[in-house]
Amino acid sequence: MKGIRGFVIVVLFSVVLLLASANTALALSYNGKTLSSSYPIVYESSIYFDSAIEAGQYSAIYDWNNAAGVYRMSIGLALHYYEEEFFNETYSYDGHNRIYRTWDWYSGAVGLNKYWCSGSTMVESDINYNPHFVLGDGSYAGYYDYASLFYHEVSHTLGFADTYNSGESNMITYGYVYTGVVKTSIPYAELVAAYNLYH
Ligand SMILES: [Zn+2]
Repeated sequence: MKGIRGFVIVVLFSVVLLLASANTALALSYNGKTLSSSYPIVYESSIYFDSAIEAGQYSAIYDWNNAAGVYRMSIGLALHYYEEEFFNETYSYDGHNRIYRTWDWYSGAVGLNKYWCSGSTMVESDINYNPHFVLGDGSYAGYYDYASLFYHEVSHTLGFADTYNSGESNMITYGYVYTGVVKTSIPYAELVAAYNLYH
């Protein structure tokens, strides 16, 4: 899609931060963007991901699609080789919805979703796991959970914003992430919110 003009391209970062700092002014909310049937997001994974990481990606996509009641996200083949590249070699608006595991010391985020929009329609989304942090199976102490990170980042693609309300720390869309925590079951409030976003 490189070179196409006419879109108003807005680049937004949605980050998962480490530091806990409750902001009770914010609550579960949307980011103002949705996926249109004209722009389904087909993620391209990396050949470097093992089956456990891929399984987390598939289940996150499956669960969020079901919650929304529309099927506008999927995962295609593991097409690309990018892993642990430099920041400025990734996250480009290039017609590919890539899933990276690339060293990202600029954002300070454990996981990141960078997306591009035309008006209120999301047209591309890249997701990164940041190996600057200790990633793995979050059911073990000391590891940021791969699957949980993907559940969170994909929620931005669907149209959610981070919530930093400490009362919503059990939500997938909660903006802070901790080691030794697995969140791969979408709470009822978010299931309803996802459905309402697309109906
Ligand atoms: Zn986020």
